[in-house]
Amino acid sequence: MPSSLSPSHHNFRPLEDFLPQNGAYQLLPFRFVRFDTTRYLLSNFVGEHCLVESETLHELVSKTLRPSSAGYSALKSRHFFFESGETSALHLLATKYRTKQAPLAEFTSLHMIVPTIRCNTSCVYCQVSHKSSTDQSCDMTEEAADRALDFMFRSPSSHLKLEFQGGEPLLNFAMVRYIVERTRQLEKQTGREVSIVICSNLSLISEEILQFCKKYHVDFSTSLDGPRDLHNHNRPSAEFDSYERTLAGITRVREALGICAISALMTTTQASLSRPREIVDEYVGQDFKSIFLRPINPYGFASRAGAITHYSTTEWIEFYKTALDYIIDLNIRGIIIREAYAALLLRRILTPYGTGYVDLQSPAGIGISAILFNHDGNVYASDESRMLAEMGDPHFRLGNLLTDSYENMMLSDVLIDTLTETMTEGVPGCSDCGFQPYCGSDPVRHYRLQGDIVGFKPTSEFCQRHMALFRHIIGILDGGSAAADVLKGWMY
Ligand code: SF4
Repeated sequence: MPSSLSPSHHNFRPLEDFLPQNGAYQLLPFRFVRFDTTRYLLSNFVGEHCLVESETLHELVSKTLRPSSAGYSALKSRHFFFESGETSALHLLATKYRTKQAPLAEFTSLHMIVPTIRCNTSCVYCQVSHKSSTDQSCDMTEEAADRALDFMFRSPSSHLKLEFQGGEPLLNFAMVRYIVERTRQLEKQTGREVSIVICSNLSLISEEILQFCKKYHVDFSTSLDGPRDLHNHNRPSAEFDSYERTLAGITRVREALGICAISALMTTTQASLSRPREIVDEYVGQDFKSIFLRPINPYGFASRAGAITHYSTTEWIEFYKTALDYIIDLNIRGIIIREAYAALLLRRILTPYGTGYVDLQSPAGIGISAILFNHDGNVYASDESRMLAEMGDPHFRLGNLLTDSYENMMLSDVLIDTLTETMTEGVPGCSDCGFQPYCGSDPVRHYRLQGDIVGFKPTSEFCQRHMALFRHIIGILDGGSAAADVLKGWMY
């Protein structure tokens, strides 16, 4: 006698009856780009992505993707389509999109002030027409400083950051002191908080400066380009051993303010290209937990000296990938150090959160993420805009603190036009690029190199560089190995 539970007598329908039928879904907007010989990267407008074989892509768009196939649930859970009658996916997508765009409402966070363009080093890539260390004609006045702070406190950002740039800011420490004290007073009056950083070569660090920075909670950022010979080649001084001074300064800052009170970054010159591991080793040896590997900027002395023509984007990409792979390998072996630009890209790739990094935003972050007040009161949409002006082209000058209002500068034609034209969602080349959700615009660099703020992407070095970095990082993540775990640990 058959059991009452035997398959031939039960009333249950087979599992397939409860699964969606082929094609019973609606596609959501997404972009794609060929990733390697057989796969495509699919990304949607909140940045979720999938690497799929070309056959899967064809099935997805022709609505023949089978619910039992491996790609179905991955693509569904990442919102590349939704099943008919299901609305929760759309609500979730909308929430992620609001989160992704939230930084736009935050508005300008980083405010850079140049208290002087005097300097005591002669870096080969200097982007500013610096003056001698005793020429006080290029120092900021108190009136301009007051207006700069008024400007900064007009920003609605909940994370105000004040950064002193130069020249060498410590050559006009009196103005740095004035601005810091005034900032802390304004904090009390407004109930807001400002984090303050001095970007310095540290050659003039003194006990007085350290005690002041301790009292007013001021951190430092410095440049360390690699081992002694490389650093001194890139950042020579007629007055002192640049490498010795920087290392001594790092030690003093750490002792007085704590190990986290100083960070460092490097600039890649032609002389750096063959030494990626040595540069990383220098950072490890100096106990830094982070290194920022930057290509040279095409402004100022860097371009006049021909430095940018001494290496190609392809050469820099190879340098970067070698250094990054080495850093990952160090981490796997237990030596903790993070590459800062990869960390920014990972945040873009793996989370819906913004980075605040000017070059990785749509629209461009100039003016609305960062802004610069020059020693003479001129206001520029970014540090690179100031560098361009130093070369004789003030295209991105928004106005002057002494003569123009906040409204006039933030609503100036040059800023509004630039923002309007740098929404990568609609920019030729970017609008149908699978990396668009992670990428950004660099209108100043494109204007400088291609004579156009949007830029022609097929020949854009910004585009070439970012495509290569996205491919490399996503490729590592997709490998699912120990290297992928290291990268995931860098997100912040
Ligand atoms: S700049 Fe290049 S990599 Fe970036 S979104 Fe545009 S086309 Fe894609």
